[in-house]
Amino acid sequence: MPTIQPTRLRTEDFRTQSAAWQLLTRDMDAGTVPHALLITGNSGTGKRSLASLTAQILLCTGEKKPCGTCPACLQMATGNHPDALAVRPGEPLSPKEDKGKKTIPVSDIRILNELAVRRAQEGGWRVFVIEQAEAMTDASANALLKTLEEPPENVCFMLLTDRPDALLPTIVSRCRTVALHPWADGIVAAAMRAQGVPEQRTAQILPLAMGSVGMALTMAQDEGYWALQEKLMRHFFGMERRSQIPAISDEYRESRGDSDRIFDILEDMVRKLLLVRLGRAPAGLLDAYPPIWRKAAAEADYAAFVRLQDAIMRTRKMRESAVTWQVILEQLLLKFMEERSQWSIS
Ligand SMILES: [Zn+2]
Repeated sequence: MPTIQPTRLRTEDFRTQSAAWQLLTRDMDAGTVPHALLITGNSGTGKRSLASLTAQILLCTGEKKPCGTCPACLQMATGNHPDALAVRPGEPLSPKEDKGKKTIPVSDIRILNELAVRRAQEGGWRVFVIEQAEAMTDASANALLKTLEEPPENVCFMLLTDRPDALLPTIVSRCRTVALHPWADGIVAAAMRAQGVPEQRTAQILPLAMGSVGMALTMAQDEGYWALQEKLMRHFFGMERRSQIPAISDEYRESRGDSDRIFDILEDMVRKLLLVRLGRAPAGLLDAYPPIWRKAAAEADYAAFVRLQDAIMRTRKMRESAVTWQVILEQLLLKFMEERSQWSIS
């Protein structure tokens, strides 16, 4: 049965998120927890962690909540609390439902509704988390709405979504929204350090993760991404002569299926050069670039990087034309070579 996944985050970790902080401190202390919360925020901003922490505080029987040592906290830590349940697409509660569907079936919500009106097994709160709440079917949403209209006592529903606009307005209006915002770079970096991500990789990821701890950690662990980035660095930024272009493009002969990723990474790499050139990122961001590019990011005309960004965008579009993949790549490599040949390294 899907359980609320334990979180390593603590109340203090949400100090910079005003709505979440208010919920976890003021409202919990005052006992004014709404029966329905809508936790919103982009992917990787901590919606599940916040729900898990809120559930733990509600269910904890210790003094300073969550104490981490009472039976309820221990049950939460292993995902075994009888009064805490999560539903999510693809993991239906009823064995009669097909697994792996992308929706939350009405049978899930009916089970939650039945549990909600029962007395809690431990005599306190019952907590239900609906992950990716936008995946509820119309029937599911309507079944939930009935319960939210006449909420049982000591029940807290938490709906999680990065697309609140995809929910029924009548559901949204019955929930208190707790919006999570992108995290400051320092906090994302600390989370990555705690996971053992090397500092240099962290520095590369921060400008791309846009405040999403989840996205940053996913990127950090994606070895295929780093291997491709290293290869593109060697070829697009490391090439020194025009005559190398055919051999380089030959290395990507089989990579057409990966073309979106290739262009995404190249765009990021050029964006970093531009950011450093404009003084909006530290030069250390470019440690992995060949010296001539680092020098250009310090003193060349910034328009060179804008031209490269345009070239990548145009090349992306060329895939729809009849031009072959290798010719497309060769034109882009040529563009890199043209810009580079205007700089000298001394
Ligand atoms: Zn406890």
